[in-house]
Amino acid sequence: HFTNAALMARRRAALPNGLGQGFEIFADRAEGAEVWDVEGRRYIDFAGGIAVLNTGHRHPALVKAVAEQLDRFTHTCFQVLAYESYVELAEKLNAMAPGNFAKKSFFLTTGAEAVENAVKVARAYTKRSAVIAFGGGFHGRTLMGMALTGKVAPYKAGFGPFPAEVFHAKFPNPLHGVSEDDAIASVEALFKYDVEASRVAAIILEPVQGEGGFYAASPAFAKRLRALCDQHGILLIADEVQTGAGRTGTWLACEQWGVAPDVITMAKSLAGGMPLSAVIGKAEVMDAAAVGGLGGTYAGNPLACASALAVIDTFEKENLLERSRAVGERLTSRLKALQAQHNCIAEVRGLGAMVAIELCKNGDPHQPDADLTKRMVAEAQKRGLILLSCGVYANVIRVLVPLVASDALLDEGLDIMAAALAAAAQ
Ligand code: PMP
Repeated sequence: HFTNAALMARRRAALPNGLGQGFEIFADRAEGAEVWDVEGRRYIDFAGGIAVLNTGHRHPALVKAVAEQLDRFTHTCFQVLAYESYVELAEKLNAMAPGNFAKKSFFLTTGAEAVENAVKVARAYTKRSAVIAFGGGFHGRTLMGMALTGKVAPYKAGFGPFPAEVFHAKFPNPLHGVSEDDAIASVEALFKYDVEASRVAAIILEPVQGEGGFYAASPAFAKRLRALCDQHGILLIADEVQTGAGRTGTWLACEQWGVAPDVITMAKSLAGGMPLSAVIGKAEVMDAAAVGGLGGTYAGNPLACASALAVIDTFEKENLLERSRAVGERLTSRLKALQAQHNCIAEVRGLGAMVAIELCKNGDPHQPDADLTKRMVAEAQKRGLILLSCGVYANVIRVLVPLVASDALLDEGLDIMAAALAAAAQ
């Protein structure tokens, strides 16, 4: 009874411009890796609500867990009346995080809040103020999140001034001429030009930059950062909001580093569509904040905790980590075959099922093609596939398809990607 066009008109009149919307589509229902809009049209979902749906839309185990909790209670505020599921989830996440040391966790609602709180505990523990982040990084839309984010348009433009004591180093990016040596040197340059190392509380990075374009930090780079942090008493924070909960083939991407961060943030797929984020870290770091300094009214909501426990259970029962690696291989091999036919694909890259293609002009990786990227997303939509772009130059197409998608559905989506690129490149 509603059309997308009618709803878009109401949306435009009632909502601010700053709230972006990828597609002029209103969802009606969803299942697994498919969505139907209000006009009854079906789409394959390669966006997964921006990395939130690793277990897919409406996974029966999650629906059951949330429904059961809904029948018991929906809210008490954990800091007023506690509940076991919060504690059980913390125990599980502590056990699943890398590092041969005692860990503790607490919960919030959004990724940005997890980042804010990671910085809070790092400052409380080190009694230092400064934080180093990376160019191209994304850490959220709150004031500290924006300050840490290394991409001006659209995230920071017009929203300053930002909190002080945030500095940006270069993220390694071999395709665009930034070696790991350059990146480490850029951190050391900050110690020379901007801030003494003894004032730095933390270095924060995404194991694979998400919004920035799916560039991965290698295990070698992580080890060098770890050594630099240890040398100067700085904490290492892994922002796993987009990489975490199985997207990269391991529960956390930093498991593949061979060194452990001191603090980890998670959100998105952690609770499979219920709003929940986590800060996981070294017990002594996590204990540094005074009583009452951490938390929030909704933080660690019982419906979301129930959903997150069901996510962890589902990963075990359905071997979703193995599936994540298999999905990654399927995506990568098909997209590499596509690259062989199109010199506009500068690179196919990824970690596990976090896979992207970067689009360029004239076969030259240094000429980003944001227009082609836009056209490809639009052509995919016409053919029934929801695709997301990203990248500092808006020239990367990323795949964040639910891991529960069948091979047949993945292939159907990949066929559409191929057709969409062919149409867009004409
Ligand atoms: N950190 C990273 C790495 C992210 O990808 C995001 C969201 N794209 C955030 C933080 C912010 O999460 P949220 O939108 O839930 O605040």
